[in-house]
Amino acid sequence: MKYYSTNKLSPKVDLRTAVTKGLAPDRGLYMPEHIIPLEPVFFAQMPHFTFQKMAFEVAKNFFGEDVPADKLQEIVYDTLSFNTPLIEVDKDIYSLELFHGPTLAFKDVGARFMARMLSWFLSEEKEIVHVLVATSGDTGSAVANGFLGIEGIRVHVLYPKGKVSEIQEKQFVTLGQNITALEVDGTFDDCQALVKAAFMDDELQSKMVLTSANSINVARFLPQAFYYFNAVAQLMTKGKKIVFSVPSGNFGNLTAGLIANIMGLPVSRFIAANNSNDVVFNYLQTGDYQTKPSVTTIANAMDVGDPSNFARILDLFKHDHERVTTVMSGTTYTDGQISESLSACYKETGYLCDPHGAVAYRALKEQLQPDEVGIFLETAHPAKFTETVEEIVGKGNVPMPERLFEFMKGKKKTVQMGTDFGTFKKYLLETGV
Ligand SMILES: *Cc1c(COP(=O)(O)O)cnc(C)c1O
Repeated sequence: MKYYSTNKLSPKVDLRTAVTKGLAPDRGLYMPEHIIPLEPVFFAQMPHFTFQKMAFEVAKNFFGEDVPADKLQEIVYDTLSFNTPLIEVDKDIYSLELFHGPTLAFKDVGARFMARMLSWFLSEEKEIVHVLVATSGDTGSAVANGFLGIEGIRVHVLYPKGKVSEIQEKQFVTLGQNITALEVDGTFDDCQALVKAAFMDDELQSKMVLTSANSINVARFLPQAFYYFNAVAQLMTKGKKIVFSVPSGNFGNLTAGLIANIMGLPVSRFIAANNSNDVVFNYLQTGDYQTKPSVTTIANAMDVGDPSNFARILDLFKHDHERVTTVMSGTTYTDGQISESLSACYKETGYLCDPHGAVAYRALKEQLQPDEVGIFLETAHPAKFTETVEEIVGKGNVPMPERLFEFMKGKKKTVQMGTDFGTFKKYLLETGV
């Protein structure tokens, strides 16, 4: 399978190039040339498959031409060493819990898959590969833990100083080994800009092998389709239309759902659930896409003012606003509204959301129609945001999983960084040789 750039100015490439380069030379995002619908027999059998088996069938559709079946199966089965249970929270409202992986966030799925695929592609190479990743919190931990100890790979995590919770931070600043955390004196968008600039820099490109592990990477973004299948498989027999509500930041998660839908997965519509960062919401309302600086919210992994995967959504629907809006609608909520829903859900149903899941839960509560059943993606465990969640539901009401507790014991080690590209480049050249 070939991959093309959403900007259409760079040549098509093979999977290996798309995964190792991350971003296309024209700054576009790679997309699979074909999205092949799965056979009716697959959908008939789907409810009886295990999650791993189902995911392997989906993965073959994307990667089957490029990765031998036994290797691909190993990558998929290894990635999905945990489940993504679907929990009934409210009448016709389900939580798809994506936080049962090592860092308790959905990004574990994409990051673990990408680490395994990249390491397979690079197993013959002599050179060290440098993975650059900008994070607003959860990406850094998922990628760092996914790549920890993998030979031939060094990971550099850039994150906005003081803007991620202590628990999130601990999960990538304490690891050591092949993982370095860079504490950037700026916003998430600044971190993302530094990473993008590094990929565009000819000198860096000629001196070191750089790749990205942000959701722009096809090996991170496409595997997120797996759990949409797993969720729908459990509700298909209900005889109701299925709606997904996706708490969105860079829109990789939602785009993977759209791709699952194009592969034939019966989903009637998607809700892009946003906090106050409303550029996609505004696009959906007006057809006009205007990026803005991000604003800080209590659902901070979604504080994105220029969502990178939005280019993929526009590409999927040929930039046709009307087509986009038949498949997805948007919502935007203030911190006050997010807290209110998190609290109401807890009081009325006993189910504790994290702030991101609460955004998506609220969207379903407001929008779900009687002939629909709704699934919201619970993208992180509430304990990753203990301070925020305790402020809403009271101290002592947020259980701390053992895995998180282990991270909290580690010692923080970071490199301080400004927002100017020159300093970052110098750092890379010094560590890269
Ligand atoms: C990254 C993240 C999101 C946003 O996902 P995108 O794919 O960037 O839209 C939502 N919730 C949590 C907890 C996250 O870590």
